[in-house]
Formats: sequence, C-alpha cells, structure tokens
Amino acid sequence: MHYDVIIIGAGPAGSAAATALARQGRSVLLLEKAAHPRHKSCGGGLSARLLPYLDADLKEIVEREIRKVVFLLRKKEVSGSSAEPVAYLVRRDRFDAYLAEKARKAGAEIVENCPVRDWRETPEGVEVQSRRGPDTASFLIGADGAAGRVARKLHPDWKKHLAFALEAEVPLRNKEEAVWIDLAVSRGYGWIFPKESGAAIGVADFKGKVPKPQALYSDFLGRHPLTFEAGSVPPNGCTIPIYRSAAPHW
Ligand SMILES: Cc1cc2nc3c(=O)[nH]c(=O)nc-3n(C[C@H](O)[C@H](O)[C@H](O)COP(=O)(O)OP(=O)(O)OC[C@H]3O[C@@H](n4cnc5c(N)ncnc54)[C@H](O)[C@@H]3O)c2cc1C
Repeated sequence: MHYDVIIIGAGPAGSAAATALARQGRSVLLLEKAAHPRHKSCGGGLSARLLPYLDADLKEIVEREIRKVVFLLRKKEVSGSSAEPVAYLVRRDRFDAYLAEKARKAGAEIVENCPVRDWRETPEGVEVQSRRGPDTASFLIGADGAAGRVARKLHPDWKKHLAFALEAEVPLRNKEEAVWIDLAVSRGYGWIFPKESGAAIGVADFKGKVPKPQALYSDFLGRHPLTFEAGSVPPNGCTIPIYRSAAPHW
C-alpha cells in the first residue's frame, strides 16, 4: 500500500504529527524502533507554554504541576514562584506511550520494534526500508530524534556539538514541590525534577568530553540533600546535541 505519509519515530513529535494527519483523513504509517512504553533520557519537564499545542488530557499524564523553580548559582539560591503552573512534569515512558496511543486511535498505523534502516526519494515520493521491507509514501517525516538518520542523511555537513549527560529516575526523600536547576556545576548544569513516583535527576557537561562522568554525577548528588537515595540507581549516559548556530562560545 502507498501511504500519504510515513513518519519515522514515535516520540512526541512523530506521534503528534501522526495524530494531526490521521485526523485530516491522511493515511499514515508510523515506524518506531522501540516498543512503548520505553525509557527516554529526559527530565520530563513540559513548559506550560506547550499547553495550547499539546491537545492532551493532563490528568492522564501529568505527575506534578510546578509553581516554583529554584536556581542555584554557586552558593546563592534564587527562586521564583507563580500562582499558575509554569511547567508540568511527566514520565517520558508514560507520556510517549499516551501520545502514540492517541495517534493509533486517530487512525495511524503504528509498527513498533521496527527500526528504519534507510530511505530514498523516488518520483512518487519516498521509499523507506525497514524489517517490513520497502514501504512507499508521498511524504516522509523524520521524527527520529536529535541524532536521527533522516536529519543526518539530509544534512551530512551539519556540525553539531554534543553535551554529555548522566540522568536517572530516582526515589526522593521528601515530597518536593519545586524544580531545581543547578548552574554551579562546572561547564554545565544539573537538574532535579520531582514527580509523583520519584524524581528525574541529571547533570550535563557542555564540553562533551568528560574524563570522569561518574564523579561529576556523584559530586552533584553529594551537594544536594534531596538526592540522598539517588546513589542506589545507576544513571544512564546520553548526549544532548547543540547545533552550531545555538551554541555558546566555549
Ligand atoms: C538528558 C536529557 C534531558 C532532557 N530534558 C528535557 C526536559 O526536561 N524538557 C524538555 O522539554 N526536553 C528535554 N529534553 C529534550 C527532549 O528529550 C527532546 O526535545 C524530545 O524528546 C524530542 O522529541 P522527538 O519526538 O523529536 O524525538 P525523540 O523523543 O528522541 O523520539 C524519537 C523516536 O524515534 C525513534 N527512532 C530513532 N531512530 C529510529 C529509526 N531508525 N527507526 C525508527 N524509529 C527510530 C526513537 O526510538 C524514539 O522513539 C531532554 C533531553 C535529554 C537528552
């Protein structure tokens, strides 16, 4: 079958695009290499400014509404509060599964455990190679993430800088209401995003090449009394791409 659109990647971008297109009556094939619910390295902080675009039942996905943010700058604490939520915290495994299910209900065909190996342009549109064999469509949407194949193939000359991060979902000692952003981490920043079932905690280094990443993480945990149980959960390593135009001067 020839589809109107093939979308690679059922993260928030791919599932949102699939839902919108399927609701307009387009035939949509959404190919995802993992199977939901799956882990995604992410703090899970949704800016409140997203709400007009999200089209989601917040009760089903939000673990905590955030009205207070604390910034740490060396030994100084600066905090801001708001009567209205400034952000919403979600768990990415639940959030992404919810959005994918919405796309399915809207009529998109979703195939999981199906990594796309390659794609090419054809006179009719595109041909996409995966374990299903070739699929064709008039349009392709590359929603396969920041390090995805589609962007790499379209823009082989893009230079991007990789920040390195270690992150984990961990238990918390107290019911913490504020989001913490630590700008005192050398060459980077750290975050504590408290949720219903624990917190997303992480530390990022903008220089990318961290000689002792675990030491950076342990040092960050050691400086935050909130994170005392975090050491029991091994963190995941990941990268955060920063494209040249947006990169600060190192
Ligand atoms: C450590 C860390 C913390 C972050 N914290 C926040 C935060 O608190 N708030 C925030 O707004 N953003 C945060 N981000 C950024 C956020 O995670 C991304 O902006 C967001 O996930 C992008 O969504 P997406 O749908 O474009 O891609 P992704 O969420 O990356 O989804 C891409 C999907 O494509 C699939 N895929 C990849 N390759 C293939 C393939 N070849 N074939 C088929 N499927 C494929 C993947 O399995 C995945 O499901 C964070 C990022 C990192 C790394």
